[in-house]
Amino acid sequence: MASTRAKRHNNALKWTPQTRAFFAKRRKKSTRLLRHLAWRYATSNNTATIWSGDLCGNTLEIGNQLMNTRSLLLVALLSIFTVTTVLAEEPGDYNFPRECIATEAGYPVPLCGKPLTKTPVVVKQKGDKALKKYPEHFIPEKEILADNEMRITVVGSGNPPLRRGQASTSLLVELGNGDNLIIDVGGGTVPALWSLRVPPALLDKLFVTHLHLDHVGGIFGLWDSMGWARNTPLHVWGASGSMPDLGVAAFVENVQKAGAWHTLSKTGVIASGGMKMVAHEFDGQQFTPEKPRALVYDENGVKIYAFPVDHILIGAVGYRLEWNGLSMVYTGDSIPTKFEAEQAKGVDVFLHELFIDAPTFSEKNNMPLEVAESVADEHTSADMLGRVFSIAKPRLGVGTHFFINEYTVDPAFAEIASTYNGPVVIAQDLMVINVTPEQIVTRMAKTDLLSWAAPAPKTEGQKPPKLDPAPTEGRTQSWVTKTRFKNDEIE
Ligand SMILES: [Zn+2]
Ligand SMILES: [Zn+2]
Repeated sequence: MASTRAKRHNNALKWTPQTRAFFAKRRKKSTRLLRHLAWRYATSNNTATIWSGDLCGNTLEIGNQLMNTRSLLLVALLSIFTVTTVLAEEPGDYNFPRECIATEAGYPVPLCGKPLTKTPVVVKQKGDKALKKYPEHFIPEKEILADNEMRITVVGSGNPPLRRGQASTSLLVELGNGDNLIIDVGGGTVPALWSLRVPPALLDKLFVTHLHLDHVGGIFGLWDSMGWARNTPLHVWGASGSMPDLGVAAFVENVQKAGAWHTLSKTGVIASGGMKMVAHEFDGQQFTPEKPRALVYDENGVKIYAFPVDHILIGAVGYRLEWNGLSMVYTGDSIPTKFEAEQAKGVDVFLHELFIDAPTFSEKNNMPLEVAESVADEHTSADMLGRVFSIAKPRLGVGTHFFINEYTVDPAFAEIASTYNGPVVIAQDLMVINVTPEQIVTRMAKTDLLSWAAPAPKTEGQKPPKLDPAPTEGRTQSWVTKTRFKNDEIE
């Protein structure tokens, strides 16, 4: 039995250039385990079995007849596969789902680990030798932001239909001064945000462009995932609507009401501070041609201005963030206007929505053309995006909120190019943009699919938070709790 298994593995391990490359890549990681196995082999007394018990349950059994030098090599080779499994939780081991081949027009295919652009690096001055070098992929916690650097991560780049490869909409903006700001938290975006390993205590500021669920539907996940790992409230900024019920303050209040069971049941179990939410609603009707934008956040050298966008109802806004000579604009959803383009003039990075053409949307999403057209009419087509960018002239233009499929990318770039010839990227989830005065570099992040909370910034010497008293009323009925298992009880 053991020899059959060994034969199968032996056959699988032909020494080809591919296997050579495979092992070379993993040699470092496996050295420690090889040493360990060699030690186990040396200290075993040639009895029936070697058990390598510390391989996370992937127990390796080798029969008596393989106990010779050749068998040690086989054990080592087999263990390399096991090591790959064990270490796959390292973010750097993440494999993108698709192989990087080029589309017909020469763009990388989506989900292959390369940003959808032909200009991943935009430099201010050509031939500048002193430019910061970045690794091919962004890996959380491996890079420190410079004092004059801004990092924008497109946490979610998609639409209301949540896709496994594309969540709805969310951005994370990290600044060299240590500030972190979330803009929108659409459905499905929190796992990617969590995987970026920013300490939850530092993820307590959310700016909302508008209250469509593809921009705020992830708030329960944000509230819960980050909330139990910090003991301070989540602060939410956003505009008021034309009626009290339609503003961000009402939204936050209603989210908290909807979470009443959740909050009460966790009281006394975890600290209550993280279960609180505070709305910072600003007037969504204050804007006029004379007062086109309003300063809604001004802390720690960071200024955020809100301005109205053309998206169905009052209360939909775009944001312009300015800090330390760097700037970014995100307009949420909109029918493109010259006004919003003016608000983004001269910005470093301009993230603007980009919508698929109605016939493709109708065909691929199995919806009547009339409905597809009605939705597309509320959004921004690729040629219009080019017109917006040609007024704003950002250092980098980003189209987001787009259905990224191989057959949608080329036509979108062609349409954009018909009205604009500056650097443009189409966003994918976990696309990272590093912005400095000298250059803008766009890459894809590799993150851990099973990541844990990042450590809190200052835990040393901190006492665990005091818990509020647990509820006494309305608890699970005693006739149920009386039947709980007791440790000393034997059935
Ligand atoms: Zn949207
Ligand atoms: Zn919307």
